[in-house]
Amino acid sequence: MKKIKVLDKEFVVSIPSEEIQKAIAKMAKTMNKDLKGKDPLFIVILNGAFVFASDLLKNININCQVSFLKMASYHGTTSTGKIRDLIGIDEDLKGKTLVVVEDIVDTGLTLEHVLKILKAHKPAEIKIATFLFKPDAYKKKIKIDYIGMEIPNEFIIGYGLDYNGYARNLKDIYVLAE
Ligand code: 5GP
Repeated sequence: MKKIKVLDKEFVVSIPSEEIQKAIAKMAKTMNKDLKGKDPLFIVILNGAFVFASDLLKNININCQVSFLKMASYHGTTSTGKIRDLIGIDEDLKGKTLVVVEDIVDTGLTLEHVLKILKAHKPAEIKIATFLFKPDAYKKKIKIDYIGMEIPNEFIIGYGLDYNGYARNLKDIYVLAE
């Protein structure tokens, strides 16, 4: 299989772009049905979720708004367990249906932190949509409403996900080569 090199490591394709788009279309179909009439505000978690959010939202056909939260918790290829950088939201969230849009839920630490911040604004409800979910790494009990794909507990890059800031622009998702 074709290898690509990002900084010091080699990666191979794990989820090709066609598969990604199919999973997103399926996810959006469920969300359109579920969220119809709720006038949701999508809250995209930066940096990683920007690529997924763009594709997802192009498949969402109900009235909605979009805003962004900036978080970061990864350095290199393992989680430090620390969350830094948060750029907040200026919309009034009170009484709104919020949909958190994540690229990936790993341990769930970031998600827990995001929910804590959003709940303080007294929304009517918070739904969670993540493109990727690592069930074997997940440590929290928070229910995830919409999942694009479940993946093994491996470090992946591409499609918004980075390796030390690189590879977010790749169309496919890659995993470390053996
Ligand atoms: P959690 O807080 O759930 O452990 O991790 C969430 C964040 O860690 C994600 O939003 C993402 O930025 C990063 N992350 C988790 N798993 C991976 C991975 O396999 N690859 C990359 N590049 N980032 C990941």
